[in-house]
Amino acid sequence: MKHIAVVGAGISGVTTAYSLLQRGYQVTVLDRNRYAAMMTSFANGGQLSASNAEVWTQFSTVLKGIRWMFKRDAPLLINPRPDWHKYSWMAEFVGNIPNYESNTIESTRLAIAARQHLFDWASRENIDFDHEARGIMHICVDKHGFEHGQRVNELLARGGLERHSVTPDEMRAIEPALSGDLYGGFYTESDSTGDIHKYTRGLAQACQRKGGKFLFDVRVQKLSSENGKVQITYYADVDYTVECDTFDGVVI
Ligand SMILES: Cc1cc2nc3c(=O)[nH]c(=O)nc-3n(C[C@H](O)[C@H](O)[C@H](O)COP(=O)(O)OP(=O)(O)OC[C@H]3O[C@@H](n4cnc5c(N)ncnc54)[C@H](O)[C@@H]3O)c2cc1C
Repeated sequence: MKHIAVVGAGISGVTTAYSLLQRGYQVTVLDRNRYAAMMTSFANGGQLSASNAEVWTQFSTVLKGIRWMFKRDAPLLINPRPDWHKYSWMAEFVGNIPNYESNTIESTRLAIAARQHLFDWASRENIDFDHEARGIMHICVDKHGFEHGQRVNELLARGGLERHSVTPDEMRAIEPALSGDLYGGFYTESDSTGDIHKYTRGLAQACQRKGGKFLFDVRVQKLSSENGKVQITYYADVDYTVECDTFDGVVI
């Protein structure tokens, strides 16, 4: 049986570990925190959505990013300090703008498949993650936003997602708490919401039931390869003891 190491016990690492265990691999997950899902997968918007599969590689995102640099309450802030990794990433981002349509269609297809896996695993492993299967609605406050949403809808449909437009009255019927001026919106019935932390913790326990091993409080420091094997050097955050283990493969 091949032994695979997974670095990171967030939603990415734990779902990877679960898939590998299902395929018959021996799996060890390493994380520097004491429990699974204590970093980005601790709390998020809670959306299990395919309706947000539109990729960000558009000129309007670049303009927004520049404008946000001068706003105190920017939702995403770019530090302009020179850094090779950051600027090469930005160049890749801009280089992918011509692929906006094809990437959005492919992301939609992937999101639908990922969402289905998450639902199936939760029901198979009995994971209680405050799941609310009541759809997700996008709200447009002006004509420009609504027309952009209609163009996105066409791409989402090509990726296999049904997201339909709704009038302000239909929106208030779906969500009576809505108030203010609404231009229109889009509703995706197949989307839902849930607690990512509870989900990841529950799936980590399912992995353990399937024989997966979790090493917590360990910080991975170095990876090296020799004779087709991977050597992982890590140290325990508690007493700084350094360990080195060998695996057949690694997923980061
Ligand atoms: C504000 C916000 C809202 C969001 N809303 C949504 C949403 O509604 N729906 C959605 O689908 N996505 C949403 N996202 C995105 C989503 O939450 C993340 O993409 C996801 O949680 C990332 O999971 P991850 O496993 O890749 O990373 P993480 O959860 O951050 O896991 C990485 C793990 O690696 C470990 N680690 C790192 N370095 C080392 C090391 N050297 N040694 C050992 N361990 C290490 C960390 O301890 C951590 O546990 C949101 C993100 C943010 C920030």
